[in-house]
Amino acid sequence: MPELPDLLYIRNYLRNNIAGRTVTDVAVKRPVVLRNALDQPPGESLCGGRIAAVRLDAPFLALEFDTELDIVLNLMLAGKIQHQHRGEKRDGYCCVSFLLDDESCLNICDDQQMAKVYIVRRGDYASIPRYRLGLDILSAEFTPARFRELARRHGRKQVRVLINDHAILASIGNAYADEILFDAGIHPKTYVSKLSAEELDRLHGSIVSVMRWGIAEVEKAAQPIQVKVRDHMKVRNRKGEPCPRCGTTIRREGVRGYDVFFCPRCQPATRKLFIDWKRL
Ligand SMILES: [Zn+2]
Repeated sequence: MPELPDLLYIRNYLRNNIAGRTVTDVAVKRPVVLRNALDQPPGESLCGGRIAAVRLDAPFLALEFDTELDIVLNLMLAGKIQHQHRGEKRDGYCCVSFLLDDESCLNICDDQQMAKVYIVRRGDYASIPRYRLGLDILSAEFTPARFRELARRHGRKQVRVLINDHAILASIGNAYADEILFDAGIHPKTYVSKLSAEELDRLHGSIVSVMRWGIAEVEKAAQPIQVKVRDHMKVRNRKGEPCPRCGTTIRREGVRGYDVFFCPRCQPATRKLFIDWKRL
């Protein structure tokens, strides 16, 4: 799943390379990904419209048309965007393709067909599930005090679930959630109510610093926008590898059906879990 650092990189790329372009054709190859809130077919409502701006309401990317329409994209777990120029190969399983007036294409690809492409009137986002936006973690409003207040309201959640909920914090996906908890030295299954004020402040600091690190790493990698940059990750998808801090073997566990990766020594469990990795 493209996460906030990836999405910022994609947004900036689209601002520099797509904004100002006019859509000349729309090819819907997999209608299952399309959610059209308008009466007309997408070809009719979008063709001739100019992309005036590109916005990120993480995890949603929006292409704003000069016709007061938006294309809102939720790439979900496996979706990606490719900007395909003439002569270049299509990269991935293309579901929807927008042809632009310079003959390049913006392709929405997803081999699982779970990504969503919403066509809506500007501001009319009620039909988009989970569009409710949480607190922007890169904004000045995301202070330690605000975070402690959010934590008080969601004390019964596991910490991994709290920071992963983009209706609360916008937005932290699975990969950066693992990196943040590793950085803060907090076990992913810890109940939020069990975190001390000092731990919450440390976690707040890790959210900000790990995301800024991710943004810098993705920019440095300078890959095409369809590539997911993950090589810099310290624990994510590193099951069985040594922890870069202490050398203990990194483990994988499930939290609410999602894989989480962590170091059992740097992130010790604070309550009795089914498996005590330290004893193994
Ligand atoms: Zn460790």
